[in-house]
Amino acid sequence: MQMAGRIYIVGMGPGREEMMTGEALYALEQADVIIGYTVYLNLLPERFRDKELLSTPMRMEEERCRMCFTEAGKGKRVALVCSGDAGIYGMASLMYEIGREYSQTELVMIPGITAASSGAAVLGAPVNHDFCVISLSDLLTPWGKIEQRLKAAAEGDFAIVLYNPSSHKRKDYLRRACDILLAAVEEERVCGYVENIGREGTKAEVCTLRELRNREVNMFTTVFIGNSGSEIINGKLITKRGYQIERDHR
Ligand code: SAH
Repeated sequence: MQMAGRIYIVGMGPGREEMMTGEALYALEQADVIIGYTVYLNLLPERFRDKELLSTPMRMEEERCRMCFTEAGKGKRVALVCSGDAGIYGMASLMYEIGREYSQTELVMIPGITAASSGAAVLGAPVNHDFCVISLSDLLTPWGKIEQRLKAAAEGDFAIVLYNPSSHKRKDYLRRACDILLAAVEEERVCGYVENIGREGTKAEVCTLRELRNREVNMFTTVFIGNSGSEIINGKLITKRGYQIERDHR
């Protein structure tokens, strides 16, 4: 059977419709079928609910991707939805890998607002200089590699964003990550975290790295660690660009 068509790989942003791009909304409007993990399908704006919606359970990512190519092969316009940006800890690369078998099908990436960006906006400006993004999930990455990257980020004095800081099976991973960072970073380093960005129950906290070590966060949380020059200004976590400003110049 010859596969054809086009699949939009859509980053939905953190959840709310106002945080989706116009291009993402347009792709969803055009789609005959929207495919994604159930949690994301449930976040879809009301007006897309009458489309054909298809899902597979968590951990069935390959099946979900193959479903996209099968539906496209039937001549349908397909949108695969991912939270945030589909190219940042999302399904995009797996789609391109599987897409090798379906060379007739065109893949179109639609970028979305990733949690590093939407969470940063809640906290202030925590990544306004060089920064590293590290996922603490060792489902697909050996923990040794994650440790190595944490060390390198701390030694490079990057501001750091941690995705997947916790799960049911990995309750103590944030603590382990903080212990690795504390080898190179002072205890008073300013940090913050945001839970449920762009969704009901958004919660943001700022704290020191020492305090972060003892905080319990859930899997819907993104964690920010400042660089050596970051500061709390009026309750917001700020990583400075380095401008010299004149003080009391009113
Ligand atoms: N593709 C997504 C990331 C998926 S990995 C993106 O670009 O944002 C899943 C991790 O992303 C979570 O463990 C959490 O660290 C972060 N995340 C995604 N959505 C979030 C939200 N609404 N609030 C807080 N963190 C979120």
